[in-house]
Amino acid sequence: MGGTFDPIHHGHLVAASEVAVRFDLDEVVFVPTGQPWQKADDKVSPAEDRYLMTVIATASNPRFTVSRVDIDRGGPTYTIDTLRDLRELYGSAADLFFITGADALDKILSWKEVDEMFALAHFVGVTRPGFDLSDDHLPDHEISLIQVPAMAISSTDCRERVAAGQPVWYLVPDGVVQYIAKRHLYL
Ligand code: ATP
Ligand code: MG
Repeated sequence: MGGTFDPIHHGHLVAASEVAVRFDLDEVVFVPTGQPWQKADDKVSPAEDRYLMTVIATASNPRFTVSRVDIDRGGPTYTIDTLRDLRELYGSAADLFFITGADALDKILSWKEVDEMFALAHFVGVTRPGFDLSDDHLPDHEISLIQVPAMAISSTDCRERVAAGQPVWYLVPDGVVQYIAKRHLYL
């Protein structure tokens, strides 16, 4: 599951957990982006902070891991590169799945080397409040569309809440609340 994770929140975690159960996955690898190209104009927190928040949020789940491939590669992150790196790390016998929310799935056709991407991994689109989940615009590619419990949470909303002095308790894991405060993020 790729994401900016700025910060990681319970919407990400529920989506990952649901897909893991549904597809009987051995592992869910969270991959924080290096420089997200769709967000080049926005202010994104340092990669190390986003990486550490992702580690903190996933630490208690033995099936959740975090990969640094996108952060360590440097430059803008393209999912095709992420999938190639993971394929190399996990070997040709591994079945790769790419988990994405309805909003990101919507833009998938504009992603780099989209056909190769679909060859490398099975794409799983999950429901997200405020967005329609459909693959009508994705010709000839097999994508699984999965209903997950509706979590009307976004990282944007979490950042705005912190900036406004409002709590993010229970929207993000407790350790992430503490990390945001300790590092003075989003102020
Ligand atoms: P931002 O508001 O900064 O864009 P975000 O909440 O959308 O943050 P991202 O890191 O952009 O989080 O998302 C990573 C992936 O998680 C994307 O595929 C996105 O669609 C999915 N996702 C994010 N929030 C939810 C949610 N509440 N429910 C389901 N999927 C989600
Ligand atoms: Mg987003």
